[in-house]
Amino acid sequence: MRPLAILGGTFDPVHIGHLCVAWEASELLDAEVRLVPASVPPHRPPPIASVEQRVAMLRAALAGQDRLGLDLRELEREGPSYTVDTLAALRAEHGTRPLVLLVGADAFAGLTCWHRWPELFDLAHVGVLSRPGDPPAWPEALHAAVDGRRVEIAGALHTLPAGCVILLDVTPLAVSASRIRDLLADGRLPRYLLPDGLFDEPGLLAAYGSTRRP
Ligand code: ATP
Repeated sequence: MRPLAILGGTFDPVHIGHLCVAWEASELLDAEVRLVPASVPPHRPPPIASVEQRVAMLRAALAGQDRLGLDLRELEREGPSYTVDTLAALRAEHGTRPLVLLVGADAFAGLTCWHRWPELFDLAHVGVLSRPGDPPAWPEALHAAVDGRRVEIAGALHTLPAGCVILLDVTPLAVSASRIRDLLADGRLPRYLLPDGLFDEPGLLAAYGSTRRP
């Protein structure tokens, strides 16, 4: 069965790094991929842009293609956006369909701080997306959890509903939302770090104080 993969994040704002790695993961895994914006991210300060602004940016970024989708369930839930709850809901909807949690290498190194993190492996496979820079060290508990789960071939993820870990070697793009927010706050316009769609409608970047036109 073709896996369903999710990439969660704050997307504050969505940028070409998110889109490129999600697209490549979809190709490498032969999977449907959905971006899942978090409402109240449990591990970091609240986003600058409102929920409505982040959704508008995501919709604009994803327009004109049908490989990457958008799943708004975390925005519709009360309270912190725990990935374990999102995966449990997807598992209930999709039966034994393989699910894949996509996470950047930076986020994966901090996985043991996530709510009920060991359960994530019962609910989904994990696809770790390479990110430029030195790969962050994993704590011992994460090494122990990954031991025996590593697979090298994406096809392995098609035969089981959950439980494998695969490292996905995606194009290294040293782009981050924090860098983009800093540039916008300095009055700069990171035109080519952001998807075209964000410039189609005026005001999509207003949350970051940017009123400049491309
Ligand atoms: P911030 O700079 O605000 O921390 P971010 O650019 O890391 O934001 P998030 O929305 O926090 O974006 O990221 C969502 C997911 O996408 C995370 O798993 C993150 O590791 C991954 N990700 C973001 N940018 C990249 C990139 N350039 N390459 C690979 N993975 C990325």
